[in-house]
Amino acid sequence: MFQQVTKNVRFWAAVAALAGLGLAAHLMAAEWKSGIVWPEPKVIDPGDATKAPSDAIVLFDGKDLSQWEGGKAEGIENGCINILKTGELRTKQHFGDCQVHVEWATPAKADGGAMSWGNSGVLMLGKYEVQIIESRDSHIYADGNAGALYGQHPAMVNPARKPGQWQTFDIVFTAPKFEGERLVKPAYFTVFYNGVLVQYHRASLGPMKHKVLATYDSKETKGPIALQQHGSAVRFRNIWVRPLKLEE
Ligand code: MG
Repeated sequence: MFQQVTKNVRFWAAVAALAGLGLAAHLMAAEWKSGIVWPEPKVIDPGDATKAPSDAIVLFDGKDLSQWEGGKAEGIENGCINILKTGELRTKQHFGDCQVHVEWATPAKADGGAMSWGNSGVLMLGKYEVQIIESRDSHIYADGNAGALYGQHPAMVNPARKPGQWQTFDIVFTAPKFEGERLVKPAYFTVFYNGVLVQYHRASLGPMKHKVLATYDSKETKGPIALQQHGSAVRFRNIWVRPLKLEE
């Protein structure tokens, strides 16, 4: 009994001592200040599932192809782009570092062989492809499925929805950097596919090539965003871009 009381006293004495030390440390600590006078972040309206953030450039809102070149207007059906009918689309404006939101749907039924069902893609600088293809009920190869940097690196997981359902890509792209002819920093992709991270700061090997090792044979650092026409009636809606400066 006596021993137990002694133990308790020791325990609470230790607690009090530690609390005292903590209090002293708290009183002695100076407030840490970075010394940097940060500008206040610009206030924007974040938008919602149907509306782009207020600082985004809306590339397609269901009405027309005025932001794009190379497309046939009759390919707009029920407020969506049918890429098979518009043909490949390229934005009139050119972008380097940016955040892009794209909603797309593969055809509910196969409209070609496995290699073409739902085949399309989002091409940054018109060349660096994030693959779109039917990837839930059909598979080609890991680095050819949706969310892959085509022919270079597969998605971390496959969060594909059913054929015909709407899906989303949110892409953060940093353009490659060159000093003269020399590549000093590759292009990087971070990609959320249906809200799921599938590429994280993934370095691109170069503009998309088919069955050939990609290289930086193009030195462009700005270019259009392109939607690929690859023989399948892939639909698009709600497309926007936020130009950014990410590497400064
Ligand atoms: Mg493709």
